[in-house]
Amino acid sequence: MSSFYDFGFNDGVLDGIEAMNFDKPTPIQEQTIPLTMSGRDVIGCAQTGTGKTAAYLLPIMHHLLENPNRTGVGALILSPTRELALQIDQAATGFCYFSGLGTRAVYGGGDAVSFENEKKALTKGADIIIATPGRLLAHLNLGYVNFSNLQHLILDEADRMLDMGFFDDIMRIVKGLPENRQTLMFSATMPPRIRQLASKILKNPAQVNIAISKPAEGIVQQAYCTYDTQKIPLLVNLLANDQHVSIIIFSSTKIKVKEIERELKRLKYSAAAIHSDLEQNEREEVLRSFRNRNLRMLVATDVLSRGIDIENISLVINFDVPGDAEDYVHRVGRTARAESTGMAITLINEFDMSRFASIEKLIGYEIPKLPLPGDLGEGPAYNPAAKHFRSFGHGKGGNKGGGNKGGGGGGGKRRFNGRKGKGGSHQGKAPQQPKS
Ligand code: AMP
Repeated sequence: MSSFYDFGFNDGVLDGIEAMNFDKPTPIQEQTIPLTMSGRDVIGCAQTGTGKTAAYLLPIMHHLLENPNRTGVGALILSPTRELALQIDQAATGFCYFSGLGTRAVYGGGDAVSFENEKKALTKGADIIIATPGRLLAHLNLGYVNFSNLQHLILDEADRMLDMGFFDDIMRIVKGLPENRQTLMFSATMPPRIRQLASKILKNPAQVNIAISKPAEGIVQQAYCTYDTQKIPLLVNLLANDQHVSIIIFSSTKIKVKEIERELKRLKYSAAAIHSDLEQNEREEVLRSFRNRNLRMLVATDVLSRGIDIENISLVINFDVPGDAEDYVHRVGRTARAESTGMAITLINEFDMSRFASIEKLIGYEIPKLPLPGDLGEGPAYNPAAKHFRSFGHGKGGNKGGGNKGGGGGGGKRRFNGRKGKGGSHQGKAPQQPKS
């Protein structure tokens, strides 16, 4: 698994990745970023929830930052819907916050003031414009849009744009763009119409396909909507059922993993944790005991989840929603091998709902959300469309976000996910983490 350092990103991009608290690239990022960085046109066949937004945003940010003396719009991202445009704009705002790059969404439906603001951005030039085709054409038809120095065109959810009848609009927009641009196209499916569109607007593209694996049928998947304060009591409640012989509990941070371990030990469960603070030999010892069934419960951070090579676990509990949908499938796949059955339970707080919806979209079905056991009170209602923002980087956020420069050695490299870095904090206000 590569790291975000391997791509050769400049500091502005690395700051953005750190601010967004991304730890390691997802498969679509791992495979498309080097191609995009090399300047090639790229087709990425990947679904929502796989990390495709950052897959194209990060390399174009890098390129725009390396070429600061541009005029006009630097990159244009076309999105089928306002909702996706807004979501991309939120992600771009988060990534670009410390870089000095400006983004602007152009998606219609707003008032006269927002039309004027869009006009200003399209005339004077914003670094990155995210637009729906119809609204962009409305501006283009008025004659003031300055795309003369545009360097990157990105078509996001291209198949959906064609489903919505945007083929002609896209062609009209593309006709007004410079020939020597880089074009990236992302699509969940690759029907012939998409290939036809690609052949018209991309030059000798490299294609990356991310195969979607789905959890095996024997796995019972369930979820609970909980506030963070309810998670430990819920976990204790779930573990009271002692039919499971081998249980892994995943959590996103080392701090939480230690807290869960403490609580389980207090309750005299046979449990131990592995996280990055342990020496290699200590980790191996814990894993050995777990494999030998001398230890019933293993508590692990996300960071280590892919590296844990243990199968035939009867229960996987995601104490937090995994960072990317592939990780969910990967973890859940540790249960229910062959004919055996397994269970996977995910605890969803209000901030992780849209991410959980991305997982459901990826696997193609909804996972039942069960009511909390009576004595725990009401959890949050499941509403993935609602925007919940959690500020981070300062104050009490545990090891989420935080230090800008990974202080204390590492050859000047940053440390993502706050794993060890305790460096200085960003100047100014930290961005709120956009959720998509
Ligand atoms: P997307 O497919 O771009 O809509 O991304 C789906 C979700 O995964 C978003 O909430 C992203 O913020 C998140 N995400 C994307 N890439 C990463 C990464 N490398 N690490 C952690 N989260 C990620």
